[in-house]
Order: sequence, then C-alpha cells, then structure tokens
Amino acid sequence: MAQNLHIGTLCVQAGYQPGKGESRQIPIIQSTTFRYETSDQMGRLFDLEDSGYFYTRLQNPTNDHVAARIAALEGGVAAMLTSSGQAANFFACVNICEAGGHIIAAGNIYGGTFNLLGTSLRKLGIDVTFINPDASEEEIATAFRPETKLLFGETISNPGVEVLDIEKFARIAHAHGVPLIIDNTFATPVHCRPFEWGADIVTHSTTKYMDGHGVAVGGAIVDSGNFDWDAHADKFPGLTTPDPSYHGLTYTKSFGKLAYITKATAQLMRDYGSIQSPQNAFYLGLGLQTLHVRLERHTKSAQKVAEFLQAHPAVAWIHYPGLPGDSEHEKACKYLPDGSCGVLAFALKGGRAVDNKFMDSLKLVTIETHVADCYTCILHPASHTHRQLTDEQLRAAGIAPDLMRLSVGLEDPEDIIADLDQAIKEALA
Ligand SMILES: *Cc1c(COP(=O)(O)O)cnc(C)c1O
Repeated sequence: MAQNLHIGTLCVQAGYQPGKGESRQIPIIQSTTFRYETSDQMGRLFDLEDSGYFYTRLQNPTNDHVAARIAALEGGVAAMLTSSGQAANFFACVNICEAGGHIIAAGNIYGGTFNLLGTSLRKLGIDVTFINPDASEEEIATAFRPETKLLFGETISNPGVEVLDIEKFARIAHAHGVPLIIDNTFATPVHCRPFEWGADIVTHSTTKYMDGHGVAVGGAIVDSGNFDWDAHADKFPGLTTPDPSYHGLTYTKSFGKLAYITKATAQLMRDYGSIQSPQNAFYLGLGLQTLHVRLERHTKSAQKVAEFLQAHPAVAWIHYPGLPGDSEHEKACKYLPDGSCGVLAFALKGGRAVDNKFMDSLKLVTIETHVADCYTCILHPASHTHRQLTDEQLRAAGIAPDLMRLSVGLEDPEDIIADLDQAIKEALA
C-alpha cells in the first residue's frame, strides 16, 4: 500500500490487498489446519525456519489480515489477535514477566485488568504495585524494584474516563529500562496512537469500539518494535536467551523487531491457547472499516449529552474530557485532539437511590455491562460490576459510589437526551 495514508483509509484498506480474482472482502478461512506436500516442509515450520500456516491456534490468514490492519492503525510493526481483551492484557504482561517479576500499573485501570494483575497474576508469583497515575514522576519512581518488568496504564480509564499522561509514563518506564504497555481500548488508534507518545506495546479489548456492534468478544496486542530488549537483556531472558522449546532459538536474534509478537504467538499461543476465532476476526475486520466514522459520531453525541447533563440542576457532577474545566480536559487536548470517546461518568443528586430510580426509568438507554458500541447503555458499577466492594474500596479503585457510566451510542443524540431528561424527571418525582 501507499505510504503516509490517513487513518480512515487505513481503517478501510490496511492489512488486506486481494490479488487478481480474489475476494474483495477479507475471506473467512474457517479451517483448523493447513496442508503441506512434504514432511520436510512441515518440519521447517515447527523449527520456525519457514513461515506458513499449520494450525489455527497459532496463526490463521483471516486473523493475520485483521491483526495487520490493527498494527497499521497503531503504527506498530506487528500485532496478534486474542480471544478477549483479558487474554490480550494477560499475554502482553506474561510475555515479558514471569514468576518473581513485578508490574507497576495505574490504579484507575479497568476492573477486569485490576483483578487480573492484583489477584490472578499474584497467584502466579508476579507481584503488582498500583500507583496513582497523577502522582509526580519522583513518587512513581519509588515503586520500581530491580525485578520490575513493565509499566501499565490506560489511555482513557474505564470507567472513570481519566486521561493518562502517556509521555510522563514513557519517560518513567524508560528511565528504569522497562517498556510501557498502554491499553488503548477507549481511545482507539483513531483518536490516540500511544506509540507516537513513547509507549512500546499497545493492547485492546476489540470487543468495544473496534467491533462496535456488540457481536464479538476479542482482543489484540500491538508491538511498536521500538523497545530494545537486548539493551536490557538480563531483565528479559525470555526474549534474549535461547528458548529450549524451539531448539535453542533466541527471539531477538532470529526476529529482531518482531521478537515480542513472535514469542507471544509461537510460545504463549501454543501453550496457553486463547486464539480469536476466524469468524470473530472477520466481524472485527468489518467493524474496523467504519471505526473512524463511528468514533467521530460517538464523540460528537457524547459532547452534546455531556453539555446537557452539565447544565441540568439534578446532576451532582459529571466527568467528560471534552468539557472545558474538566480535570482531564488539558491532557485530552494534548493526547486526544480530535475528541476522547463516547463514554462519560456522572451522578445525580440524592445518591444511589435516585441513581437506581433514574436507571429503571430509562426507555431507550439500556442497562448493560457492555460499553462502547452502537447502543447507548448505562451501568452503575457500585450496584453492578463492582457490587462486592464497599464504598471505601470503590473510592480506593477511583470509582465514586454514585458514579454511573454512560456509553453514548449511535442513535440520534436528541433522542438520547430526551430519554435521559424524562428519566431524571421520573427519578425526582
Ligand atoms: C472491556 C475491557 C477490557 C477487557 O476486555 P474483554 O474483551 O471484555 O475481555 C480490558 N480493558 C479495557 C479498558 C476494557 O474496557
């Protein structure tokens, strides 16, 4: 493809250019396995000496086209699809952090990732320190240990919609010889490309805006190819020393800038599984083709809804990076100049009881655990996803007990606002 194409063109075309007589749309290769003509051909694949498809748990053409589209959108060298966003963040971490290692993560990240790191990785012998992302560089630096392997944060946090100072995080990570991993789910590469601000690896829950229609759970990991693993070889032996399960091959020596994604595919996918199905990858590829068009509409509508809520006397507080005066507005102007996303957080005066009556009175807007697709939906973390937490624990996780997360969909914003308006009246009646 031509160089220097704009993001919308990449959404539509990157990752797949059919040849003469081939299908215009990415084909679904719904096959577990692939045929070879000689035993030697097959043997070379298992030594990673030849590239080729042999089993869909490791690689599949449909998935590879869609992964290549995501890599192009992020400006990375390679990407891998996973069965979910959870699997993407799990693989992104354990690819470079083993038992005895340590991870530092922003404390305001998505609850699922908070549990993954704080509960499940701890059980695997990986320790985690959660930090306040707005703390000073000096303060964050105190969390580093000799065994720290990575720094982790979200471009726009879920559900608090806080914007990360990515440049600051990249500076701190690199000063300590570790990569910065950014979960870019809410911003998507249409609104922010974290590699341009110094991040090394990007992850996605493609379940959200990338799919955009609420049809397929999925994830992706993208590598910028910029982190110099060999310069910190003692920290990352998995990449820089021989892998006995591939006849002593060393990933950085054999694959250079592709080392990280090759190891994640050849070793982690082989051993842990979690591939995205080709059918789901096809849906994801379709979603990506309209991502730039949809995200613009999500963002414009969310801005209108945010302005309506901000002006409403029944609203206790509202958080949307697009509102001037919002705590996140300045960072949003820098990192998200075309807008943040369709998600906002707010609360009504009167606390949980009023919040609940309001949600029960909604007619068009639905109560869902999902977020970031074409349907406008709402969630009250304290009553739903985080209901096992006390108010104090909620606050520690950066979630106000009265916070409602509203994900503004693609319906006409006038209808969304009218529904919110009537439900607020009901709640106060
Ligand atoms: C939803 C979400 C995840 C988890 O993704 P799944 O596809 O649900 O497994 C991870 N990070 C963020 C920011 C999310 O919103």
